[in-house]
Amino acid sequence: MSQPLFEKLALVGIGLIGGSIALAARRAGLAEKIVAATRRAETAGAANRLKLVDHCGTDLAAACQDADLVIVCTPVGACGEAARAIAPVLPPGCILSDVGSVKQAVIAAMRPYVPPGVHFVPAHPVAGTENSGPEAAFTELFDGRWTILTPLPDSEPAAVDRLDAFWKGLGSLTQRLDPADHDRILAITSHLPHLIAYTIVGTADDLGGHLNSEVLRFAAGGFRDFTRIAASDPTMWRDVFLNNREAVLEVLARFQEDLFYLQRAIRWGEGDKLFDLFTRTREIRRALIHLNQA
Ligand code: NAP
Repeated sequence: MSQPLFEKLALVGIGLIGGSIALAARRAGLAEKIVAATRRAETAGAANRLKLVDHCGTDLAAACQDADLVIVCTPVGACGEAARAIAPVLPPGCILSDVGSVKQAVIAAMRPYVPPGVHFVPAHPVAGTENSGPEAAFTELFDGRWTILTPLPDSEPAAVDRLDAFWKGLGSLTQRLDPADHDRILAITSHLPHLIAYTIVGTADDLGGHLNSEVLRFAAGGFRDFTRIAASDPTMWRDVFLNNREAVLEVLARFQEDLFYLQRAIRWGEGDKLFDLFTRTREIRRALIHLNQA
């Protein structure tokens, strides 16, 4: 158990990420009191039944009263509205953060509502599963995974250090990045792979007649891994693509070029081109395993 870093942690939104923060914070004793608020009574009921937090209600502002750390854990498209709702009660000195998978758009949406004296330090845990809701939360989600902090030029260094210590306490490795760099990096490492998975599974589903059912029967040939990613939460991922539009469209254009290169190599029987690429990509997988991020 660590010394509590915060007296009251308030989570706005309590699904996979909010719930896992609550569980990991309790494991490490990072906050004396942990509360949450969410949009629907049904979700609040589940969070209370699962004892994820000391109390979960549906009044976002009430949950944030007297909190010294507030983390917005809603889909990206709802972060601005959440910030607007809680802003009037945020006490001076409190740290306001989020977990959104896109940083520039979330900062633009939340920043206008941050009251003077409140430290806004955006963050993104690069950890997740395809499951959502409070039932999907688990204590170990962040263990050994990276959390990226994207402080603003005017973020107070002591507040950034405190949030950094909090995420380390949750089990994360931490790294600070510029928000624009974050969005470009995540576009290629996370957003594009999800887009590809959604496309492949959609294409397979569009295959007519008996082929469609045979695809499911023989899914073990690689398709299965795509179906897991393509089962990710539709609201979350709609919001990610709408809010990281430029970076996603940029990597998508490059990806399409590379795909045409492979298409051409296959058409003209240029096996050496295929072999060279596949050899290079195999090394990338080995490097990931070496970094313990596979
Ligand atoms: P989730 O399990 O679906 O939970 C979302 C929570 O936000 C629920 O409590 C939900 O409330 C609430 N919510 C949804 N719409 C809302 C609205 N309009 N106003 C207020 N509350 C609202 O989602 P999650 O996977 O935890 O993701 C939360 C955030 O973490 C997203 O920004 C996502 O980009 C980011 N993130 C996700 C992952 C991942 O793999 N899932 C990884 C890293 C970061 P109700 O159920 O009450 O409607």
